Amino acid sequence: MYHLGYSNSKYLKFLNKMASIFSKIASGEIPSWKIAEDSRFYAFLDINPISKGHTLVIPKKETDYIFDLDSEEFSSLFAFAQKVGLAIKEAIPCKRVGVAVLGMEVPHAHIHLIPLNSESDLDFKKEKLQFSTSEMELISKSISSKIKI
Ligand code: AMP
Repeated sequence: MYHLGYSNSKYLKFLNKMASIFSKIASGEIPSWKIAEDSRFYAFLDINPISKGHTLVIPKKETDYIFDLDSEEFSSLFAFAQKVGLAIKEAIPCKRVGVAVLGMEVPHAHIHLIPLNSESDLDFKKEKLQFSTSEMELISKSISSKIKI
């Protein structure tokens, strides 16, 4: 992945100008470390993780603000995220998988699933973790192998 490690504001400003980088990820136009997908939803590793196994879950249909989803799509997105969260908990040693919705950088609704061992692990301001391509591949495979969809 050519953009691994670009956690700086320049890259994030660039993202905001794009229609939706996440739509391109869901369609396969842009590569991602895929965790799971079905006809409506897609889960993949965050490229700038705040913890090992940090995953994003998106609806394939492009909607910016998560609370603008219709209620059926909203609850189905969370039902899909639940399956992914259970798989993360099995694959990554952690006490719990935390859930966060921000949407400050990418205007395409998404849920962050973040393995946690303490409250301080859920801190988006801390320095992002760096994993090599092979480590990211290993993490995504270990989570996706636990998915029951
Ligand atoms: P926010 O919109 O504030 O919820 O943050 C967007 C999240 O998307 C950040 O955690 C980024 O690291 C992540 N992100 C941005 N581009 C990509 C990408 N190409 N692949 C995976 N995650 C990404």
